[in-house]
Amino acid sequence: MLDIKAIRNDFPILDEKVNGKPLVYFDNAATAQKPQVVIDAIAEYYETINANIHRGVHTLSQLATDAYEIARKKVQHHINAKEDREVIFTAGTTFGINLVASGFARLLKEGDEVLISAMEHHSNIVPWQFACEQSGATLKVIPMNEKGELVMEEFDKLINEKTKIVAVTHISNALGTINPIKRIIDKAHEYGAAVLIDGAQATPHVKPDMQALDCDFYVFSAHKICGPTGTGVLYGKEEWLNKLPPYQGGGEMIKTVTFDKTTFACLPHKFEAGTPNIAGGIVLGCAIDYLNSVGFDNIVAYEQELLDYGTKRLLEIEGLKIYGTSDDKASVISFNIEGIHPYDIGVIVDKLGVAVRTGHHCTQPIMDFYGIPGTVRASFSFYNTKEEIDTLVEAVKKAKSMLS
Ligand SMILES: *Cc1c(COP(=O)(O)O)cnc(C)c1O
Repeated sequence: MLDIKAIRNDFPILDEKVNGKPLVYFDNAATAQKPQVVIDAIAEYYETINANIHRGVHTLSQLATDAYEIARKKVQHHINAKEDREVIFTAGTTFGINLVASGFARLLKEGDEVLISAMEHHSNIVPWQFACEQSGATLKVIPMNEKGELVMEEFDKLINEKTKIVAVTHISNALGTINPIKRIIDKAHEYGAAVLIDGAQATPHVKPDMQALDCDFYVFSAHKICGPTGTGVLYGKEEWLNKLPPYQGGGEMIKTVTFDKTTFACLPHKFEAGTPNIAGGIVLGCAIDYLNSVGFDNIVAYEQELLDYGTKRLLEIEGLKIYGTSDDKASVISFNIEGIHPYDIGVIVDKLGVAVRTGHHCTQPIMDFYGIPGTVRASFSFYNTKEEIDTLVEAVKKAKSMLS
């Protein structure tokens, strides 16, 4: 059981007022709020050990390097990666997918296929379109059904020997659907295809196990798990990271440089060109510690309660339709009210202090599938409460009465 009052006290922003009303923050799928320990760790880094890493002989540089590498090990243990060099620090999920896709652009050839799904975030679509354009490979899409689930029989038909990589999201940011990624990974491997999992929306809710999943790549962002923006992780199996060409060239990622030829540093440095977001990596480690102290089992159980309660309460509103009704779902509720534009609802509930996201949530193909311009999305975190959901429901009712 979680002590929600104590947890809420860890997050200073939750005491803020918005438009004169207490903030109800339900935009967690876009970015999570930060606990005081994370906020303090950013200042502490700059106040005490700020220096460039992996290069200086001086003490501060050593301390900063050690802290950065300890954070890498923290990530390794958190996701149960076999080696710490399989953990590449990135600028975020988008960066991680672009890194892998641009590498594949050089490995793929005409006739090869890349398989994504109908519910991908734009950052797991566009980089693969680039890779296919550059290589002559073909992009294929696993369709979804009305409940917002992948149609697995179609996946079974689409995967074949021409498939070189399958890139799918673990949890949909727009619908909340939890995808059967283990089944996808195992089946793809039968055909020799690599698998990239977009974990941006899963890592706030679950602790992903790289060795149990056996995926080839897994990407996520620090800012969605209570960490800072501009930092993220690309996990890659060592054999794949060795096979992929470097992404960006520069300092830190080289072994030797002459004007004739450059040789590249070993992992993870091969993919970490330039001075990284040092504070970001270190503080990501703090965010992971914080979440583990709350406990992922507790988080999942409590968020399920919020999801069930929120679903029940919102459906009391006549004309309200929820998109994404899979039985296997994380705490994201996307909805519309008949005859009302989602944007208008978002503006009115904001006036009442409730922060939701409206629009296509960087998943335009999902909106096209349902034939809608967008949805209102309320996404819950472990620091939210049922009382806040009541506030949302009242705000939505008010919006409805004003707009219809
Ligand atoms: C947020 C998100 C992304 C993009 O993450 P960035 O931090 O913006 O790079 C990609 N995929 C999913 C499923 C997301 O939720």
